[in-house]
Amino acid sequence: MRNGSTNQSGKILATSEEFVPTAFHLPGELPALPLDESEPVHWQVAMKRAIRSSQQLRKAVGLPPDSAEVLLPEGKLAGERDFPTFAPLEFLARIQPNNPDDPLLRQVLPLPDEQVEQAGFAADPVGDLNALVSPGVLHKYEGRALILTTSACGIHCRYCFRREFPYQQTGSRKEDWLPSIEYLQNRPDIEEVILSGGDPLTTTDEKLNQLISALENIPHLQRLRIHSRMPIVIPQRITEELVKRLSSSRLSVWMVIHANHPQELSESVLLRTTHLIDSGIPVLNQAVLLRGVNDESEILAELCRRLVNHRIQPYYLHQLDRVRGASHFEVPVEAGLRIIESLRTVLPGYAVPQYVHEEAGEKSKSPILDNTREVKS
Ligand SMILES: *Cc1c(COP(=O)(O)O)cnc(C)c1O
Ligand code: SF4
Repeated sequence: MRNGSTNQSGKILATSEEFVPTAFHLPGELPALPLDESEPVHWQVAMKRAIRSSQQLRKAVGLPPDSAEVLLPEGKLAGERDFPTFAPLEFLARIQPNNPDDPLLRQVLPLPDEQVEQAGFAADPVGDLNALVSPGVLHKYEGRALILTTSACGIHCRYCFRREFPYQQTGSRKEDWLPSIEYLQNRPDIEEVILSGGDPLTTTDEKLNQLISALENIPHLQRLRIHSRMPIVIPQRITEELVKRLSSSRLSVWMVIHANHPQELSESVLLRTTHLIDSGIPVLNQAVLLRGVNDESEILAELCRRLVNHRIQPYYLHQLDRVRGASHFEVPVEAGLRIIESLRTVLPGYAVPQYVHEEAGEKSKSPILDNTREVKS
């Protein structure tokens, strides 16, 4: 059995009702797909009107409901108890309707497979709780520290390694960054801060501005890195105000986005990332190797091509972290190595991401290399 004993909001969470300022009111009915992307709603409205249950999601993309046997009395799948469904319409607009195998849908649609118990798949697969050095700060690697900026995300990815992360216990739920700032102030060896989460860009521009200002006041910090899936999911989150704030920072700002499939790179996504890059903020992409989503070399080659065509550098391709509930996404390492090998033959070297895995306790992400390949001397 999965640990379904708690339904409390210590876990990764979509933003709740109180998050949206009252000045916004929602349309009574959800707009039909596909969306008109030329007139995007405010990103907070996009969050508020996101789809929040598997059955609602199935309906929105033209799939029949799940059969009653697999549903809990409240009409949800068991996997949704600890990690609710959350998918904004802006992301769903890139899904092909009536296709249960759509690679984008697969990333957000809960399946009965999530309940399959698999040996080796655990709640905290990368040892994050051991790396917690202060409330809300993970410090695993030399020179870089990661702030769990918030527990909220703009989408719930079913394969997420933090899908059961107890944000409440880590102090990262209330967006109180003072303990994190204090930790960083006392560590002159840290030169780069990574804002992660959750998703740091679910925080308002006003609050981000406060956080960035506090970081800028720490003299030994040189770089600010933002890890966010929001530019992909709700691209209008890249507001003019945000771009201005980041590009005028004393710190060198890098943005790391997260797209797994070329279909995620819509025109409005690429418009915003281009604006970031033109404003002096380098953009990198990380992807996770996922069965049934991007485990074919042609698909990843197309993703990487589209990224570098828009000056985004493919950074990491992650081997799946073995988090409970995600075993149906795992691709064997041997298959991953064959895919990378094939990418090398069709792409320029700078367009091939580093295939890595995170091992608890290691001093960096671990590269996954083909040991059978001989180096000729
Ligand atoms: C992945 C990670 C980083 C960043 O590692 P890079 O190899 O520099 O991208 C930093 N801190 C933590 C805790 C991480 O998990
Ligand atoms: S993969 Fe990123 S965006 Fe998706 S649920 Fe996890 S933390 Fe949130």
